[in-house]
Amino acid sequence: MAIRTILTQGDPVLNKTCHPVTKFDHKLAVLLDDLKETLTQANGVGLAAPQVGILRRAVVVVDGTGEMLELVNPEIIAQKGEQDGLEGCLSVPGMWGYVKRPQWVRVKAQDRNGSWFETEGEGLTARCFCHELAHLDGHLYTELTDHLYTTEELDQMMEEQEAARQEERE
Ligand code: ZN
Repeated sequence: MAIRTILTQGDPVLNKTCHPVTKFDHKLAVLLDDLKETLTQANGVGLAAPQVGILRRAVVVVDGTGEMLELVNPEIIAQKGEQDGLEGCLSVPGMWGYVKRPQWVRVKAQDRNGSWFETEGEGLTARCFCHELAHLDGHLYTELTDHLYTTEELDQMMEEQEAARQEERE
């Protein structure tokens, strides 16, 4: 296993469409293990193969229970509702934006051996599935938000909101 370098916005690889995985071999297993290790080290909730420079349809996502899922050739097959929330990306470090996503999604994918399975997620997990799958088609969340905040701006905004809530209570 190895930690791979995460590409950042501006690298043209992040805007390319990834190819389906057709060989469920040792190379794929190594890629999935490396994605997991890289995601753990980066302390994120999702990572897609193109973010480490590999144009293959494979992602890893941390679900609501903290388990790390491997999704090969994933597709969203159903979705419900809508949520608006803050999103960030390991390829866009230090920036955050509000993005609308479905509240719940159902995903079909293959495991590292090629077996198909279905999984579902809501809230943050649904957001994460949508975000990671968009990477496979060369899309970043920054296309879906009208304003990007720096971490400092966000901290300040949270403080102001907290102060406003305090005032309401008094
Ligand atoms: Zn991302």
